[in-house]
Amino acid sequence: MRLVLLGPPGAGKGTQSEAISSTFGIPHISTGDIFRANVKGGTPLGEEAKGFMSRGELVPDSVVNRMVADRLRQPDAEEGFLLDGYPRTVAQAHTLSGMLAMLDADLDGVLHFAVPDDELEGRIAKRQAEEGRDDDDAAVFQRRMQEYRDQTTSLVPHYREAGLLVDVDAVGSIEEVRERVLAACRQAADAA
Ligand code: AMP
Repeated sequence: MRLVLLGPPGAGKGTQSEAISSTFGIPHISTGDIFRANVKGGTPLGEEAKGFMSRGELVPDSVVNRMVADRLRQPDAEEGFLLDGYPRTVAQAHTLSGMLAMLDADLDGVLHFAVPDDELEGRIAKRQAEEGRDDDDAAVFQRRMQEYRDQTTSLVPHYREAGLLVDVDAVGSIEEVRERVLAACRQAADAA
């Protein structure tokens, strides 16, 4: 199964990924997690991404696309994957289509996590208190939300028109949302 998770920062994509990944036996590929690990490890990729991330801006496509292409070629992603945080722009979505065509593979579905803005702010403040992520700082979070609105929301109609979008109401307890998310994955698999 090949899935994409789409939704604003703080929508719970990372939290729900574990259940999807273990239920369907597919690797969770989070571009944000890969960048954070590289920043922490002080790698050249981390050095390239660091400034953009700390300002809440998108890392340039040239860097992100290369990283995703390498990751999707790994043997564990051959039978399926869960992409979290990529694509984030229509241009990245086109690049992903090209990568999948090269691998002779198709997406099964795009899960769209819907959460009202005021709820997101509360969740991010809580996550910053618990995890101390620099980019969860209030000002940087606003910038990330702006990037989401400006660059990423157009993926909703893009994937809806492609018949791949499945909306998920992501407000509720972790368990409630998990049930909806797993049902949405099954729906995507059946429709594919
Ligand atoms: P996330 O954990 O998905 O919110 O990602 C954290 C940060 O990593 C983002 O604010 C961006 O700076 C960068 N990032 C992650 N994925 C992408 C992407 N697909 N395109 C550009 N930048 C990204």
